[in-house]
Amino acid sequence: MPKTLPASALMPPDHVEASLRILRDHMPGDSVRARGPKQSRDPFRSCISCMLSAQSLDRNTAKATQALFQLARTPQDMLALSNEEIVDAIRPAGLYNRKAGNIRRFCEQLLVEHDGIVPDTRDGLLELHGIGRKCADLIAHFAFGRPHIAVDTHIRRVCQRSGLAMGKTEAQVAASLDDRAPEWAKPDAHFWLLQFGKRVCRSRTPLCPDCPIRPFCRYPAKTDPAVVRP
Ligand code: SF4
Repeated sequence: MPKTLPASALMPPDHVEASLRILRDHMPGDSVRARGPKQSRDPFRSCISCMLSAQSLDRNTAKATQALFQLARTPQDMLALSNEEIVDAIRPAGLYNRKAGNIRRFCEQLLVEHDGIVPDTRDGLLELHGIGRKCADLIAHFAFGRPHIAVDTHIRRVCQRSGLAMGKTEAQVAASLDDRAPEWAKPDAHFWLLQFGKRVCRSRTPLCPDCPIRPFCRYPAKTDPAVVRP
């Protein structure tokens, strides 16, 4: 496993800025072209899809979301379904009993506390049953256009290795990145970092010799040829 950095090895702010400019210029993808999370800008569907995505492959999440939304498209209609109907529809996403329970509680809370309308802020989303920091950031960003950088496993790894941000968990890295990233980068940094994590700073074989932010990266193993097996 690659080592992660101590707090003392964080990139200085000017290197964070320079790295994000480089990634902006090298990586494809922005929030205008993208759809999401999980291919939807409908906040309610985004919440359900994000809940279903826990420990599920994207294609299975999409299959489960589509099956469920063929049965019901609103919190009211969702609650009119039997538990068995929900479980059967979301089975492809796994953990279906727990996820069905979460969906029901989420819909109940949404109706009782928000008249069925999904709140449009990260803090409001975080109050909802079944919505964690990553889902809240994704939905606030994609569905409501808020400038939060949602952190997934790829972005967490990139930040931990390079020193862009610190933290052990995705939520901690997201909070650190929120503090450290310049405002101009926040609307689209999720896409640059995600593509960079998938294509260059990969989990098992980071392509350090070809990395455009290598001069700023603080990853101790970046100079070790044994780490790089392209
Ligand atoms: S130099 Fe290597 S470890 Fe550092 S950001 Fe680039 S790919 Fe990742």
